[in-house]
Amino acid sequence: MYAGGKYCAPRHCSFYIIAFLICQLVFLVIFIRNDRNDDIIAGELLAYQNESVDNYLNWHVFISHTPETSEAFYQYNIHLSNAVGPIRKLPVTRHSSCTTRNYVLPSPLEANVSVVISFHNEARSMLLRTIVSLLSRTPEDYLHELILVDDGSQRDVTLLDDLKRWMGEVFWSKYRLGLIFLRNQERMGLIWSRNRGASLASGRYVLFLDSHCEVNEGWLEPLLERLARNTNLAVSPLLDPIDPTTLSYRKGNEMLKGGFDWSLHFHWLKRQLANQERLEMPYQSPVFAGGVLMMSRDWFLKLGSFNPYLKIWGGESIELAIKLWLCGGQIEIVPCSRIGHIFRRRHAFDFPPQSDPTQKS
Ligand code: UDP
Ligand code: MN
Repeated sequence: MYAGGKYCAPRHCSFYIIAFLICQLVFLVIFIRNDRNDDIIAGELLAYQNESVDNYLNWHVFISHTPETSEAFYQYNIHLSNAVGPIRKLPVTRHSSCTTRNYVLPSPLEANVSVVISFHNEARSMLLRTIVSLLSRTPEDYLHELILVDDGSQRDVTLLDDLKRWMGEVFWSKYRLGLIFLRNQERMGLIWSRNRGASLASGRYVLFLDSHCEVNEGWLEPLLERLARNTNLAVSPLLDPIDPTTLSYRKGNEMLKGGFDWSLHFHWLKRQLANQERLEMPYQSPVFAGGVLMMSRDWFLKLGSFNPYLKIWGGESIELAIKLWLCGGQIEIVPCSRIGHIFRRRHAFDFPPQSDPTQKS
């Protein structure tokens, strides 16, 4: 046999053969590992396709510190949420014309957005998917800042610090995005927390988003286009329901608008299509589509923000809608903008006994 320019003795040959086989094995292992990582990442991480696998794996480390893992606590399938990953492909649920048309947008200097997310006892994986979908599917120039308010989450007390670190590692080198992290030491409720976030916002528009959402492709442009036409307008995307058990993402119904009864409870109402009106056109709604809404920050503050006398949860977006209509505003739902939202079957949190300011202690 011939090796290194000389014929080798059989004893040396077996050394070369074994070394060759070990090299092959090492290459095979590296190949399989890379291939597996590619399977996880390919086409899924969108904006982060070039990020190292380590960043992705940090996500697993991050969610492994979730202290509470019961479904009853969150009212959705947390195990599935952990398994889904930081981002996934979503079905295109909007009309095909929404994808092909060019939106007339102001420059980002005049139309940047501050996103306020208040959360209480949200699973880490769910909150992260909300954030990662937002950062992946929002034009960077228009996304001014992200304001995260931890509303006194009970079990996961290190969440905000971990999140700060995680986002610092993964995003700060890449984005000019402003990040504000707030924590209420005591639970103050959604309304107070959103007001706190909005009072610190410095973008032209403010978007209030729940902490268990996945924004779909091209969600922002249709909203910005509408808002740029009318400064007194407020808009909601069309909410696509995500099933709390299977996490399946379905197409929301364009025939529904938001309404309320006289106890200020929210109800979906059926709407009528006018002559020539197409399903994908923006349409007026008495109130917002649930709690996901966007409007000029100045206009929001001018209207007195959400009524701070309302406690914990509920009624605030209806109250804002009434103020807005009475002051010459309008509300539209924009079907070309889609955001997935988990509609839980029951509340995942309790309502602490209200302190009555008229009662002496
Ligand atoms: N939330 C909060 N503090 C509370 C109750 C709720 O910050 O005391 C958050 C919650 O985590 C979510 C948003 O407010 O991000 C809206 O609440 P929820 O999703 O329960 O309302 P729904 O979508 O059912 O109307
Ligand atoms: Mn919600």
